[in-house]
Amino acid sequence: MLLKRGEKLFIVFNEEGYTYGNCILVDDDIRLVIDSGAGRELAKVQPEKVDILINTHHHYDHVRGNKFFTRAQILLHPVERISIKSVEKVMAIDGWNQLMPQDLYNRERVEEGVEPNSLTEEWRVDGEINDGQVIDCGSTKFMVLHTPGHSKGHCAFYFPEEDLAFLGDICLTKVGPWYGEAHTDPGELIASIDRIIELNPAAVVTSHVNQIVDNPRPVLREYRDRILKREQRILKQLRESPQTIDQLAEKHLIYREHPSMPVLFWEKSMIRNHLERLVKLGLAEELDEGVFKAV
Ligand SMILES: [Zn+2]
Repeated sequence: MLLKRGEKLFIVFNEEGYTYGNCILVDDDIRLVIDSGAGRELAKVQPEKVDILINTHHHYDHVRGNKFFTRAQILLHPVERISIKSVEKVMAIDGWNQLMPQDLYNRERVEEGVEPNSLTEEWRVDGEINDGQVIDCGSTKFMVLHTPGHSKGHCAFYFPEEDLAFLGDICLTKVGPWYGEAHTDPGELIASIDRIIELNPAAVVTSHVNQIVDNPRPVLREYRDRILKREQRILKQLRESPQTIDQLAEKHLIYREHPSMPVLFWEKSMIRNHLERLVKLGLAEELDEGVFKAV
């Protein structure tokens, strides 16, 4: 569904769910699209007639339609530019071998909805975007906000005329937030969400919720606080007894269920990131290799 918001700004809501994502179309002197994961709905932006495509970050559900933008300049944050060349990073399974040594990554099982070849073909990148940059499409101007934490180069975008921000994978879904990239400090995502709260846009739209969220501050706060609640649950466990990442993961401190191997992997990966932060904050320490306790 294409939803008009302002003179030249449209939101493309995908209708295929998981492994797809919502996009933005600016239909101005310069035709610009943000993200390409809208699946069948993507045809409505006429990708072959788009001048600039920006990716919020490198994950598959945000770049999967890039190949349809045959004449567009493709831009993303410099850090993402490196990540988009790695299958493991695009699939968000970076660090799998360390955390899931007994389980070989079975691509057929988890890549439902992923087109064969799309992960091994070269992703084209033509240029970069950076924090604070103003993108001028004619009458529509908007600002790049570097919002790391979900991925290191993740960007959100603020449209001042409409007082609306597109938050990408600061997704505001029930299962979020996700910060499972190897060795990412959850504090980075907290700071990025705080930045949006401070910006205080009248409305936000994300990649994975199919509606515009008006007056988003309370929702953003609750979403941010989930990170801290997860951390408190981990710390509580470590106060009871020293534990490994595997033992903590069995307690479902992040995801209530582990319906697939990647979800278990993400649980472990996020626990590891919390533990690294807790050690840095002086709230936990590593005893023997891989065993953590509260300080
Ligand atoms: Zn993502």
